[in-house]
Amino acid sequence: MSRQNDVNLQQITVYNSLTRKKEDFIPRDRGKVGIYVCGPTVYGYVHVGNARPYVFFAVLSRYLRHLGYEVTLVENLTDVDDKIIERASKEGTTSDEIAKQYSDAYIEDTGRLGLERPDVEPKATEHIEEIIDICKDLVEAGYAYETGGSLYFRVGDFTGYGKLSGQKTDQMLHCELPRDGEAKESPLDFAIWKAAKPGEPSWESPWGQGRPGWHIECTAMSLKYLGKKFDIHGGGLDLVFPHHENEVAQAEAVTGTGFVRYWMHNGMITRKDEKMSKSIGNIFLLREFLKNYDPRVLILFFMGSHYRSPLEFSERNLDEAATQLERFRNCLWKINGVVGETGPEIPMPEADAGTGHKAPDAGVLQATIERTREQFDDEMRDDINTAGALAAVFGLVRVVNEYTEAASVAGGADAGLLVEARELLVELLHILGVDIAASEYGESGFDQELLDLVKAREQARLAKDYAAADAARDRLAEAGYEVRDTPQGPKLVKKV
Ligand SMILES: [Zn+2]
Repeated sequence: MSRQNDVNLQQITVYNSLTRKKEDFIPRDRGKVGIYVCGPTVYGYVHVGNARPYVFFAVLSRYLRHLGYEVTLVENLTDVDDKIIERASKEGTTSDEIAKQYSDAYIEDTGRLGLERPDVEPKATEHIEEIIDICKDLVEAGYAYETGGSLYFRVGDFTGYGKLSGQKTDQMLHCELPRDGEAKESPLDFAIWKAAKPGEPSWESPWGQGRPGWHIECTAMSLKYLGKKFDIHGGGLDLVFPHHENEVAQAEAVTGTGFVRYWMHNGMITRKDEKMSKSIGNIFLLREFLKNYDPRVLILFFMGSHYRSPLEFSERNLDEAATQLERFRNCLWKINGVVGETGPEIPMPEADAGTGHKAPDAGVLQATIERTREQFDDEMRDDINTAGALAAVFGLVRVVNEYTEAASVAGGADAGLLVEARELLVELLHILGVDIAASEYGESGFDQELLDLVKAREQARLAKDYAAADAARDRLAEAGYEVRDTPQGPKLVKKV
């Protein structure tokens, strides 16, 4: 696989949080990429901040697949955790019930984004055996110790501790409080296994009934599905410390080798809370957002900024993304209006001014198509700069709009070239996570019944059976459409 792409593959750079610089991306196994992303802790509905890594790493996977890589994307669900237990006790239900309810909700909500699901979505509770095995190994190797039925990782014994977050252990402020009846050797030590308290979910282990700590599950599941020294570990910037730092310590201590080749962290979604309008506050939950917006608006909102940048969740930014989606759809409609035999026409609210009555310039469109693909790739290769890639797509949209505008006035369109432009537009938007179905802009969007009526009317007209032609026209009108006769043939137009 990826024969002709091998040369290109070497040219991708990604910013590696571990080395704090952009590096050439070279996967462990030629032509294959393994990615692990920390998913949500399922104790409530996910918000748009959780959707950002979900979307970004899906787009990264799409791009790598487009280049010819075989990608395995693993994204976990944390379904046993203090927060889940807390919520269950507040609501007088079990931890299992809460985890089940919100895992299902997460799958449902993210499913509506229209992206491929990760290849594996492991749950912590389904990997207790693997987790216990790693705990045992860490105890045997002297990296972990037992106290009061819990296990703690001995931070002082792992020399690389702090390398991911760039901190020195003597300056670390974060530390987990020991639980009742436990004695930590050092304040920095963190729990890898927690002794069961009454009413908490627990599993049998060599240290008695207990449950995994949060960090150990990701070490266990990433190593299980992707192996040692896998390619990319992702997640939100807020997970670098302590979660990812601890994952590194556990994994490198247990395997005796490097854990991850490239760490990629996405920036946070910010809200101006004090000024935030009520409507924005209400749609911060992904579920609520999707009741109000097309899911692609959220994806375009994410794609409009570099994944490492913080991103402000505001009505203005969302409106801009919604307008962008409309521009793409309009552009595709216009192409179809020119090339389609019964292609639809729609009003063109954003018609570009100043095109005059020039004939369409095929040379300019041809050159733009070529340049757009190059620009798009250049931007994506440069640490997945989706904002730059999106700008390249807009460059194409502008030129296509000028072309279709000129063609609709002066005629003489090169339909083959427009079809090429349409295919490129659809392909590049797909890589960015935005799928625009042909039914949204093309003739296949019309019911076959409508198209049959157009045909029947045309045949009746040619046969000079005006009564039948009028009858067909009336039935189209009832359905909300009118037929316009143009030099290129009849066009079906939705009445507005
Ligand atoms: Zn994790």
